[in-house]
Amino acid sequence: MAMVMKSSDDGREETQPIISHFSHRHPLESSELHEDDNGVCSGCEHDVVGPAYVCTKATCHFLLHGLCSDLPRRLRHRCHPSHPLALLPSPPYGDGEFTCDACGRSGHGFTYHCGACKFDLHVECASLPEIEDRRDVHQHALILTADLPDGQDLVCCACDDFVAKGLWVYCCLACKCGLHLSCA
Ligand SMILES: [Zn+2]
Ligand SMILES: [Zn+2]
Ligand SMILES: [Zn+2]
Ligand SMILES: [Zn+2]
Ligand SMILES: [Zn+2]
Ligand SMILES: [Zn+2]
Repeated sequence: MAMVMKSSDDGREETQPIISHFSHRHPLESSELHEDDNGVCSGCEHDVVGPAYVCTKATCHFLLHGLCSDLPRRLRHRCHPSHPLALLPSPPYGDGEFTCDACGRSGHGFTYHCGACKFDLHVECASLPEIEDRRDVHQHALILTADLPDGQDLVCCACDDFVAKGLWVYCCLACKCGLHLSCA
């Protein structure tokens, strides 16, 4: 499925004053949030300061970062090559929570989801850079890796702790050196 992007000639997105968004039943209004608004994005669950889309219903607390309102609905990720991932407005599980397959933490907002594998990613984990260049902790570029080869015990070169199996990690396989996502 191709994605249709609306963009002007200079490649910048036009900011529309009112949008309807697939993730929410009420119209959303373009707004600029400040620190004392204490806004929390309903998509990524992080604080919002700056451009946002806020629900037009005063009793509704739904809001999105400008960037989170504009995420692709489908995504192919190098770390989950067999299936495309679909952006869901909320976790498809009964308890309203998912566990991110990249960082291992829970989420309650948007998820990039594969139904066949029950695979979920936070939106920020789905957009982690493929290569992390951290010459301060390791002399080579570190590659985002989902599946460590069997029998590899990696130690994080930033915090010296072991890297748990099953979670994504930045690593240099040549040197058997890892970097936790949280340390990157
Ligand atoms: Zn967000
Ligand atoms: Zn609303
Ligand atoms: Zn995550
Ligand atoms: Zn899958
Ligand atoms: Zn670490
Ligand atoms: Zn290395």
